[in-house]
Amino acid sequence: MPWVDTHCHLQLDGRPPETLLERATEVSWLVAPGVDADSSRASLALAERFGERVVATAGLHPHDAASWPQQRAEIESMATRVGAIGETGLDFYRDLSPRDVQEASLRDQIEMAIVLGKPLIVHCRDAFADVHRILSDTAVGPQSVLHCWTGGRRWTKRFLDLGVTFSFAGPVAFETGETIRRSAEVVPPERALVETDTPYLAPPPHRGEPNEPAWVALVGAALAGVWGVEVDEVAAITSENAARVFGR
Ligand SMILES: [Zn+2]
Repeated sequence: MPWVDTHCHLQLDGRPPETLLERATEVSWLVAPGVDADSSRASLALAERFGERVVATAGLHPHDAASWPQQRAEIESMATRVGAIGETGLDFYRDLSPRDVQEASLRDQIEMAIVLGKPLIVHCRDAFADVHRILSDTAVGPQSVLHCWTGGRRWTKRFLDLGVTFSFAGPVAFETGETIRRSAEVVPPERALVETDTPYLAPPPHRGEPNEPAWVALVGAALAGVWGVEVDEVAAITSENAARVFGR
């Protein structure tokens, strides 16, 4: 039952990556998103070291968008060698960079993804209206992955219309995840991915522990419950979707 963990910050986890990959016997490959120039370089190094099992990305997280002018050239220099652009996006929950600066950084990274024809990994927290507006007017929806999707049904339907793919993480399995499960009900399985967001957001029964790629199956099991299908079917369809989205 092979899975693809489409968002796994292996390079931000203090533990040896080979240990986490060895334990993840049911994960055929994973995406290790960069969140700045340094972690994008580290992601590329992991992809070189582990070959087919790790896809690298290059991008700047919205938290650090204020440093986009300083980091842009280096991230751009890696962009042709990675499997996706991001993680970028908007985070109006923590607001660690000014909102207009987050938007400018996101728009530049969208441009890179469009020019290079690569998938775009989008972080969206408390910023549904703005992310929707920006994805709409850049027409980048069909190559966008909305990572750790937490939107309600109304936003889910609106984003579905833009052609995006939704990546579900641990919160879909949380006891408090009812809103996300109700959203997942309206997502056609061929538009869904699974991720761990390692080392964050470990699903039950591991809440509070550092997450790891092996636990992506617990996220998939939660989706199987929502859709009323076998867990194996979720593994198969989400892996097929990941291969399509990331061009593998
Ligand atoms: Zn992330």
